[in-house]
Parts: sequence; C-alpha cells; structure tokens
Amino acid sequence: MALTRCQSAGSPPSSGFIISGFIVNFPHQRLGQMIVVSGPSGTGKTTLCRKVCEAGLAVFSVSCTTRKPRPGEQHGVDYFFLSEAEFERRVAAGDFFEHAQVHQHAYGTLKETVYDHLRQGVDVLLDIDVQGAAMVRSCTDELVRRCLLDVFVLPPSPEELAARLRGRGTEDTATLDLRLRNAAAEMAHWPAYQHVLVSSTREEDEVRFRSLLSAGTLRTSLYLGADANSPEDPA
Ligand code: 5GP
Repeated sequence: MALTRCQSAGSPPSSGFIISGFIVNFPHQRLGQMIVVSGPSGTGKTTLCRKVCEAGLAVFSVSCTTRKPRPGEQHGVDYFFLSEAEFERRVAAGDFFEHAQVHQHAYGTLKETVYDHLRQGVDVLLDIDVQGAAMVRSCTDELVRRCLLDVFVLPPSPEELAARLRGRGTEDTATLDLRLRNAAAEMAHWPAYQHVLVSSTREEDEVRFRSLLSAGTLRTSLYLGADANSPEDPA
C-alpha cells in the first residue's frame, strides 16, 4: 500500500497521509482535560487533588472564596480569599466560569484559570461542589464538552466520613455539624458523575485517580480539532 505524505506548497507540513485515497490525519497535540472533582468535605479529595497536581499531572484551579483562610492556607495558593463585595464585583463583571454558595460562603472558578490551559493542552483540576459541577456539565461550550472528565469521591462509610472530618481539627463544632448535614445532600448527587471513586486508603485512592486521569488522556474528543491539522468535529 502506497503512503503519500500530504503537503501543499506554502502551508506548514501536515501530519496527514493519503492511504488508498483516504486522507488520514494524525493529531499533533491534544486539548487539556477539565477534571472536575466533587465529594463531601472530609473524603480526602482536596489532598488527592493536591497530590496529583504536585506530581505535575495537572494544574490546580485556584478558586475564589469569601470564607476566611484556615491556619496555613495561603492567598493565591489554596484560594483567592476575597471580600463579599469583591466577589460580587467579579460576578457582575462575568469573570467566573461557575460560582456557587457552599456552606454559607461564596466560591467560584475564574474563566481565565480554565480556558487557556485547555487550549494549551494542560490538564486542569477543579475541586468544586455539586452545584458547580452541574453548571459545568450543562455548559454548551464545545471546548468544555470535549475536555470534561468528572469524578465524585465517596467516603467508605458515613462513620468514616465523620471521623475524618473530626480528625482534621480545622472546624469548630457548629461548622463541623453543618458540613456533616450538607454531606448527605451532596452525596445524593454521585450518580450524575461519569466516574465514582469510593475512598479507601490515601495511597490506593491516588493510584486509582492517577489511572483515571491517564486513561482520560486517550479520549478522541481531546484530539479532534486540537490543532490546525486535525479534522473538525465530525458530528
Ligand atoms: P473548603 O471550604 O472546605 O475548602 O471547600 C468547601 C467546598 O467548596 C468543597 O466542596 C469544595 O469542593 C467547594 N469549592 C471550592 N472551590 C469551589 C469553586 O470554585 N466552586 C464551587 N462551586 N465549589 C467550590
């Protein structure tokens, strides 16, 4: 079978081949994955997200919030800690990709954090609640639809969830109670996600999460239209 490299004068070299009359394009690059991770506080999802980002597998999407920093949290690293007025100003300016009220505080993902990375082929990880995830899923933007990979992290049991939350020691009793009450409502949403990770040990969770991200990079939707030489969406 004769293979002919496609190349037309004046245009950059293409990665396509003509095989028996068919033009077969080979993509150069892919889009980044938009990895949405949800789950109740205390499942260990934030630690999980941080670990894969520290390992260089994805960039962590630093959200904005109106809640006060916990000891050790840094502005621009854990969150952008904004006043309510500043948060509202950014909502009005249309700066947020999604935003929601969670545990009596406002949280939101900035558009600028997400789109540039996806186009550059960088995987970006969003640790957001079920309302934010629902907004992302209902987004009709073609780029978002192609790049989205979502996963819900479930605790192994309600008792373990309560133990893990108490063990963090970062919340006062009232906040802890509120988070435990909200956890049940949040967990009802797991079937809406493409993937579910029932938490086990930290090590085991990380292995399974890494496998999911790695398999996710093989999706055709990340390659179609990701560079000028690729075919457009056939749909
Ligand atoms: P925490 O206050 O414990 O850091 O986060 C509380 C909840 O807010 C978590 O479920 C977390 O996933 C969620 N969250 C953090 N950032 C965002 C965001 O930008 N948007 C939405 N919708 N939820 C967020």
